[in-house]
Amino acid sequence: MIFQGDPRAEWSNWFDSTGREQRIKDYVHLTSKLIWQRQAIFLAATLLAAFYFDPVRTLACYSGVLFSEVLDMLLIPAVQKWKKGDARTGRRILMKITINTVISAGTISFFVINVAQQQAIGGHFTPLFFLFAASLFAAMNNNQMIGILLLRLTIYGGAFVYIAFYDILKYRPPLASNVWLEFFTIAFVLYFIIDISLVFYRSYQERLEQMQLIREENERTKAAYEIKTQFLSTVSHELRTPLTSIKASLDLLNTGVLGDVPDYLTPALTIAAKNSQRLANLIDDLLDLQKIEAGEMVFHFEALNVGDLVKEAIESTKSYGERLGIHVTMVVPTEDVQIQGDQSRLIQVMNNLLSNALKFSHEGGTVQVRIERRGERVRICVQDDGVGIPENSHDKVFGKFSQVDSSDIRRVGGTGLGMNITRQIVERHDGRVDYESELGRGSTFYVEFDRIPAAAKVEAEAQPLAVSA
Ligand code: ADP
Repeated sequence: MIFQGDPRAEWSNWFDSTGREQRIKDYVHLTSKLIWQRQAIFLAATLLAAFYFDPVRTLACYSGVLFSEVLDMLLIPAVQKWKKGDARTGRRILMKITINTVISAGTISFFVINVAQQQAIGGHFTPLFFLFAASLFAAMNNNQMIGILLLRLTIYGGAFVYIAFYDILKYRPPLASNVWLEFFTIAFVLYFIIDISLVFYRSYQERLEQMQLIREENERTKAAYEIKTQFLSTVSHELRTPLTSIKASLDLLNTGVLGDVPDYLTPALTIAAKNSQRLANLIDDLLDLQKIEAGEMVFHFEALNVGDLVKEAIESTKSYGERLGIHVTMVVPTEDVQIQGDQSRLIQVMNNLLSNALKFSHEGGTVQVRIERRGERVRICVQDDGVGIPENSHDKVFGKFSQVDSSDIRRVGGTGLGMNITRQIVERHDGRVDYESELGRGSTFYVEFDRIPAAAKVEAEAQPLAVSA
């Protein structure tokens, strides 16, 4: 257990606050990603130096570099096992990275000094260029941890200065000689490397900060979404109960059970009943949507006869169609077709397709419901000759709270939730819902499901299955 004021707790806080955990992970990740690139560079430099200079010393240095590479690779599993917030392991990994850096930079520096010493006075182009390449590689790829980068660059810097001073101390040349020119050039290159390292470090730092901002924004959005969902759920539930009793009372009044209603009150009561029904539909849709999204909608799968399902849905929307003066016809295959599904949810789907077809039809129009066998699948089509849907309206038709026409030119009511709920229910049945439509000429909405093969029907009927979404 770690207590407040405990140095371990302070270290743990510092570890998190500086984003060190992320930096170490990024550092080790990139180190492992670039392994083959580094091996190619090391091998090329070794072959070059072994050919022109002492091969034994060169190969000895190469094995030192390989040793540090192995140590680096051993860090990968340690970082993978590292649990978030475990500062102790983090400190151990950091220590190992520091030691590996000293070994690797030390061996590389020793290698270039070794090459320089085998050359004549001045003209240390090859070792200095090796060192420059190593420094640039570190600046570009080790900028996640500025301390580690500076440690490596300091060791390389020491080698740079050593190579430059070695000739000056040994031969004490005049200021006008090439040896001094080389020394000043090295000083310039050192400055350049430090400058470029800082640029890379700053850009990494900015990236880290941006990632942190995105993460925070994401957390805030998630929290806001949860509050909204919670709010919607509470409001819907709270509205549902009083609304049910209001609607029931209005129905009693309208049917005359509570006594005769004076004529002058009838229009107002009819409007009130109609609107309370609309409100109840909206709340039902909201509650359904929440249930589906929270994975709380329970589906009771059983073998269903598609013909019966469609007949029942047509029956339940019959009075609505009659009121609108729309004729509904049905085309069924001669043979029974069965699917696995939740009866009440699929009736809900069919009701939605049918009521939309009726709602968006012209007065006196026709709606046709067809059951089509398509290989192993069955397709239920609901075709109307109504207003139709413009092209590229998919997102609006299946989106949440979205409708194709804007609300100000809208003739019919609706929540814009029905098709979204329909799609989610159909997908829970491993089915598919889609439509074909021509603006001004009508639409055909269809749902498609797997058929139960004839041989499996008896068994499926015997074993109803309850599945939660
Ligand atoms: P709504 O409650 O508005 O009917 P839905 O989610 O059921 O919402 O449908 C979304 C939108 O898709 C509808 O508002 C309508 O613009 C369009 N739509 C759905 N079915 C039809 C149809 N049969 N004919 C024309 N448009 C349709």
